[in-house]
Amino acid sequence: MTVIDRRLFVFGLCGMGLTWTSVGRINSACAATKISPDERSVLIVVDVQNCFLPGGSLAVKDGEQVVPIVNRIARAFANVVMTQDWHTPGHISFASTHPGRKPFETINLAYGDQVLWPDHCVQGTSSADISKDISISHAQLIVRKGYNKDMDSYSALQSPGVGRDRPRGPAADRADCPPNDTPSTRSGPR
Ligand SMILES: [Zn+2]
Repeated sequence: MTVIDRRLFVFGLCGMGLTWTSVGRINSACAATKISPDERSVLIVVDVQNCFLPGGSLAVKDGEQVVPIVNRIARAFANVVMTQDWHTPGHISFASTHPGRKPFETINLAYGDQVLWPDHCVQGTSSADISKDISISHAQLIVRKGYNKDMDSYSALQSPGVGRDRPRGPAADRADCPPNDTPSTRSGPR
């Protein structure tokens, strides 16, 4: 059985998402304990897409550094799922869809507050492609999210409002992004 450092596991687990926060914060939050992936373990690689890498329209600074780490960790997992932000042209989360609005402004929509982003990860474009440097040929599943033109979705596991007592804003839906996190404190993919 392969044993890997939990710190690296979490880094890979969150994929690009972890670059929203500082690596220092991650390291302090994660004890250097060991984990042992087994046949029931699943690695989820989140949104390692061109649009979120340097040169992309919503790039994460130094985001490319996560790629070799993810590749390395993935070798320890029999089960790997990847996610892909997958927006329609004119998606409701794009600032360009709302005349007079600018990226990173927040507006209120029927389902809650929505931060407006630069156009990114449009379906079928190279921007939406998973990085060519990701090498996980044994990944079994790609989960696409954000494909509903009228609703943003950050979670790969749940759409906003589904299974809840009331609709919630997407920012509140993502487990890795606290609702009170603001664009000014972020540096990563949405
Ligand atoms: Zn998005």
